[in-house]
Amino acid sequence: MFYSDAHLHVNPMKGLGADRISKKFKSKGGWFISIVSLPPYHYGFNEVNVESYKKTLDLITREAVKAKEHELEVVKFIGFHPAEIDNYYKLGVKADKLLKLIDEVFKLIEQALRDNLIDGIGEVGRQHYGTSPERLVFSESVMIRALMLARDYDVPVQLHLEQGGLATAYSIKLLASNIGISTDKTIMHHANFETATWSELYDIVFTAPVKYFDEKYASNKWKHCMMESDFIDDPSRPGVSAYPWEIPEVIDKLVEKQVLSEEQAYRILVDNVVKTFKVKPP
Ligand SMILES: [Zn+2]
Ligand SMILES: [Zn+2]
Repeated sequence: MFYSDAHLHVNPMKGLGADRISKKFKSKGGWFISIVSLPPYHYGFNEVNVESYKKTLDLITREAVKAKEHELEVVKFIGFHPAEIDNYYKLGVKADKLLKLIDEVFKLIEQALRDNLIDGIGEVGRQHYGTSPERLVFSESVMIRALMLARDYDVPVQLHLEQGGLATAYSIKLLASNIGISTDKTIMHHANFETATWSELYDIVFTAPVKYFDEKYASNKWKHCMMESDFIDDPSRPGVSAYPWEIPEVIDKLVEKQVLSEEQAYRILVDNVVKTFKVKPP
């Protein structure tokens, strides 16, 4: 079996970094990872300006090179996470200044897409926790903008959303069709079983967190499912997410128990990844 992780984070400043993560994942049968950038301040780039995002882009670029040295297929994403909106509000950044920063970051993202430095945009989306209506609508506006840019450059978007089942999937379907981006590019990341069920009905691609991928989740014949660890590579927050190498462990057990067929596992771990990220199959 070939294993993939369609959504993980690397943090060489605090955690293992791409080199060690990729080495271990490869040794467990991994063939593909999708590296999604963390907010700049997680890497210690604390200044609230576009420079911090340039440093983040450079860091992700270097990390991807290291991952490729272990003969993995690698794609990379940069975005503007809803938690960043909250963080900047907490720091007292006013909305007009924040929008200026978002404008500059989007220019950076667009240039990075033109230069083939990134393969898509993410994370963008909506808070999965309670926040103010103002911050929520700001985050959603960033997501809409990301979907428009992704449409223009024909790239996927990693969406971080509330797990609202029908409401979440319906809103993405509606936004995607109005913006004119295909729902095979709007990846609903960290989908729980309920939200995955509605994504599937609306033909939206999604990633299943390995920690939720139990027998019930795995036994569905999903068409649009991929796997993710959402590893955050931060030893100060253990247990917040899974390790990428838990994907082979969990999949193997499910196949062994015949909850998951080998063909279905191949579809989730290879076919859907090849289609969504336009990478070469293993
Ligand atoms: Zn997320
Ligand atoms: Zn994530």
